[in-house]
Amino acid sequence: MIEKAVEEIKSAGVEISTNMEDRIAYCKDYNPLHLPKLLKKEFPALPHAAAFPKTTEEVSKVLQVANAYGVPVYVFGGGSGVIDAATPYEGGIAVSTLGLDFVEIDEENMLVRAGAGVVGGRLEKILNHRGFTLRHSPQSLYCSTVGGWVATAASGQFSTGYGNIENLLISLTAVLPDGEVVVERATPRRAGPDLKRIFVGSEGLLGVVTEAVMKIFPLPEEFLTLSVEYEGIGDAVRDAKALMQLKPALMRIFDDEESLRYFDSESFTLIAVFEGKGASARLEEAKKVVSGEVVDGRAEKWLEKRFDVSDISRIVPLGFIFDTIEVACFWRDAEKVYTEVLKAIRGVEGTVTASAHASHFYESGLCFYFTFAGLPADIESYYEEVWRKAVETSLRNGGNLTHHHGVGRLRKRWLSAEIGGYYPLLRDLKSILDRRNILNRGVML
Ligand SMILES: Cc1cc2nc3c(=O)[nH]c(=O)nc-3n(C[C@H](O)[C@H](O)[C@H](O)COP(=O)(O)OP(=O)(O)OC[C@H]3O[C@@H](n4cnc5c(N)ncnc54)[C@H](O)[C@@H]3O)c2cc1C
Repeated sequence: MIEKAVEEIKSAGVEISTNMEDRIAYCKDYNPLHLPKLLKKEFPALPHAAAFPKTTEEVSKVLQVANAYGVPVYVFGGGSGVIDAATPYEGGIAVSTLGLDFVEIDEENMLVRAGAGVVGGRLEKILNHRGFTLRHSPQSLYCSTVGGWVATAASGQFSTGYGNIENLLISLTAVLPDGEVVVERATPRRAGPDLKRIFVGSEGLLGVVTEAVMKIFPLPEEFLTLSVEYEGIGDAVRDAKALMQLKPALMRIFDDEESLRYFDSESFTLIAVFEGKGASARLEEAKKVVSGEVVDGRAEKWLEKRFDVSDISRIVPLGFIFDTIEVACFWRDAEKVYTEVLKAIRGVEGTVTASAHASHFYESGLCFYFTFAGLPADIESYYEEVWRKAVETSLRNGGNLTHHHGVGRLRKRWLSAEIGGYYPLLRDLKSILDRRNILNRGVML
């Protein structure tokens, strides 16, 4: 079956490879359990082939053929997803979207139309060159794609001021599992069902996103920072809530462990960026609002290092396992979620360090981002226990399942508890759109 499908895709003129190097390139996502395996020269999985379509029509051809033969398809953007949502455990065809690489700027309407495979760093560079920005800046900016952002409901470092990927989206083009192409006319807003939203956070279950039209913003003239230190999380969170009235573009709270790591300080740290018109007045007002002590330079220090993840490649070869767990909660539950989830992670034998920062803020609440590293006897069972304890503690204390990394295989056992009656709806949608269950089999459901 798979050989026939590959031949058919090839004869339709779509690039597809069965070379070992290409198959290895698409054998995993960025979930941390994969790296120790690769260091032992074990592959987490292997697709039979990797396809490299360059247009929506070519994506459609791949899916038509795969659907006809019932061959599994795993969709890859940058492969930076961390929740084991693209790993091709059932073989089949890995479809790379990286060939969908066009960028068109519409200055008059402040829009950009981009192929799903455009890597964030390239998109931002092109926009900046013309005086614009998307202001969607995940830490993985240089290794994630437009389609991946939509599929994972990604969140950038400036989400507090500009919103998450769903707030930037104007329209989407997607290919359904049977190859049908769905396109909608772009418009600033419309009433009626907003069905493009079914693809946001769908992790490749319902279709392949091939392009997106998104809002863009003029590069801000003013860019001002604020750094404040505190003795505990409570005051910092209360100040963050008050600062939301002053519309910071970016805000973060680092706990004492992370303040030590980033700023060589044992206090808690809040940083904020105010930008655009009226930024200096808002900054001055912010200084009056905060209860902590205003300090110098911490925001700049973090901004300088904000894409640096080189620690991971240093510690994993030494036998450590390292990961992050992000959850959202209302203001009401913030201190409880922070304290209890950290306690749960630290309580697992093998944990060497656990810390947290708050990274995204809303009128109604915030996202906590926990980081842990362990040096356990058995990596897999340690990892399983940390995740189970952290997620269950979050859910019990008012936190949610995921803020922006997504569900994948890692969190799927908790999904029905999280979304309740929407879970059977999602299952029905999947079985209607993907009768042969070819797309990202085993992910989320
Ligand atoms: C160091 C690091 C930092 C990170 N920082 C952030 C952060 O700040 N914010 C954040 O939100 N995330 C972050 N992430 C997670 C990850 O980068 C995001 O989830 C990102 O959106 C994934 O994009 P990608 O192109 O790499 O997608 P992939 O990893 O290739 O895919 C992710 C999922 O989306 C599906 N998919 C990909 N492209 C498409 C498409 N075109 N159509 C349909 N389905 C598709 C895949 O099948 C998979 O299920 C980080 C990851 C790393 C490793």
